[in-house]
Amino acid sequence: MYILSKYRLTLLLFALFFLCVASVSAMTISRVEPENWWVGMKNPQLQIMVYGPDIGKASLTVNYPGVKITEVAKTENPNYLFVYLTISSTAKAGLIPLHFKAGSQETTYNYPIKSRSYEAGAMGFNASDVLYLITPDRFANGDIKNDNMDDATVNRKNPNARHGGDLEGISRHLDYIKDLGITTVWLNPTQENNMKGGSYHGYAITDFYKMDPRFGTNQEFYSLVKNIHQKGMKMVMDMVFNHCGSNHWWMKDLPSQDWINDSNKFVQTNHSTVSVMDIHASPSEKKKFTDGWFTRGMPDLNQRNRHLATYLIQNSVWWIEFAHIDGIRQDTYSYMDFDFLARWCKEVRTEYPDFNIVGETWYNKSASSAWWQENSVLDSKNSHLKTSMDFSLTFINQASFDSKTDNGYLDNIFEDIAQDFIYPDPYNLLIFLDNHDMSRFNHEGETDLKRYKQGLAFLLTTRGIPQLFYGTEILMTGTKEEGDGALRKDFPGGWPGDQTDAFSSNGRTAIQNEAWNYTQKLLQWRKNSAAVTQGKLIHYAPNKSGVYVYGRIKDNHTVMVILNSALKEQTVQMDRFSDIIGKNTKGHDVITSSTIDLTKSVTIPSKGEYVLDLE
Ligand code: CA
Repeated sequence: MYILSKYRLTLLLFALFFLCVASVSAMTISRVEPENWWVGMKNPQLQIMVYGPDIGKASLTVNYPGVKITEVAKTENPNYLFVYLTISSTAKAGLIPLHFKAGSQETTYNYPIKSRSYEAGAMGFNASDVLYLITPDRFANGDIKNDNMDDATVNRKNPNARHGGDLEGISRHLDYIKDLGITTVWLNPTQENNMKGGSYHGYAITDFYKMDPRFGTNQEFYSLVKNIHQKGMKMVMDMVFNHCGSNHWWMKDLPSQDWINDSNKFVQTNHSTVSVMDIHASPSEKKKFTDGWFTRGMPDLNQRNRHLATYLIQNSVWWIEFAHIDGIRQDTYSYMDFDFLARWCKEVRTEYPDFNIVGETWYNKSASSAWWQENSVLDSKNSHLKTSMDFSLTFINQASFDSKTDNGYLDNIFEDIAQDFIYPDPYNLLIFLDNHDMSRFNHEGETDLKRYKQGLAFLLTTRGIPQLFYGTEILMTGTKEEGDGALRKDFPGGWPGDQTDAFSSNGRTAIQNEAWNYTQKLLQWRKNSAAVTQGKLIHYAPNKSGVYVYGRIKDNHTVMVILNSALKEQTVQMDRFSDIIGKNTKGHDVITSSTIDLTKSVTIPSKGEYVLDLE
């Protein structure tokens, strides 16, 4: 610590000295973002944010074949310049000399434009995938050297402190994830959160272009994505455009007062997510929702500022092009400016046609999530958001699978799915039993897996893109009432010296292995099931019978799922389900490998399920 402070002091003195010298000779450029760009992008426009003392007073000249200045925009703060360049398709990779001059002072900044290495573009994700959501601080600590930095020291006893997990830890357990049957990894944000007290969750970004050093370097992130691809999986990066961390470097010297909403003064958002589409919403409540700050430590970014809007869009393109990610999950979706979001989705998919973005559309009702999905007829404007989150189904699942009534609860799930006409594309919704912000689906002290198995079977066979939260497969528990930290416990075995290692079957209890093996069986089978990943859904009303039957049909592939929520064994006549059974006579049970005769009635155990490949 002593060495660090001494180092800081030296830096400060050096900076002061440099500033004094600079005032009489050369100009100082403290930051340039993005640090580089690429030639051959479909969008020839590039914005470069230049930050340095009085750089805003400088004029700019550029002499580079194929590159011309579109605009040099100043803001009310003389320490910023927003340089807009047009990079033609004929421009070659190299260093663009940006020549700044103000009076007798001048300087040249050589700006790199590189060759593209990712022209094939991202893979995107869809219903053929299953996402595995990881809280990077809590999964595995692969590098103890990066644990303690600045004020945020690792303390695994404190659920709200940093625990030391990192990219290296995730990298070392990719075989575990692949073996389970996952196709896509989604990490909670990994960009720098240099906040007092820790901010282990990642949602208070203090540098949009830099990995948090406690997780690793940009290069390590690049390598992680490369490893994921080499194992045949994909990567979804979490992004946060609604707010930044209050310790973001620009908060000390904002480009303009309107960079942050509410004139850079803390006003709490009312979290009134529905006000966006509520035709009766009070205008003031609506404004307070989108312009209020998420928390005091998370100032609200004003995406109506054109420089900031372009900055954020480019930031996402930069990460796609740099790290080769396949998708983005965007935080607090409804809290942002609609037009900005629509422009963002459109521009990203123009550059990378197969890319997919999922927005955190947190609503109790499916109509509101549907309002946000691309091509919705519920709003006159198009969001261009391919995947919204189906929270409505999550809440109904949680309440339903917890329900103690004998026969009724599957009707609620059926009825929610029956509202799918409201969605432009229900097959592209993200579906989940829980995530990092909700009580975990697994309950403490459950002695059998009936509820778990039924929940998983439903999640992995109904329409949509399933997402699992890390640790679900080993029955990790935690409730919202215990605090967010309890939802994001350390994965056992991820830390050197851990008493148990749930990454290996030897380290798991019998019931954990039962859950794990069941999950693996379904996930591995799902990957190759055209019916479940691409098929149409046809379902039948349970009619208070406690039995929900549905089929997924793609060409001559059919999967039939039978869920029995009743406490008693039930026998079901098959003739009612002729739409899905067709000419098939047998069902091969994916879980038990047994064969079921569909020409007769079928008996299904209490709280049991069949997932049948028809033949
Ligand atoms: Ca670490």
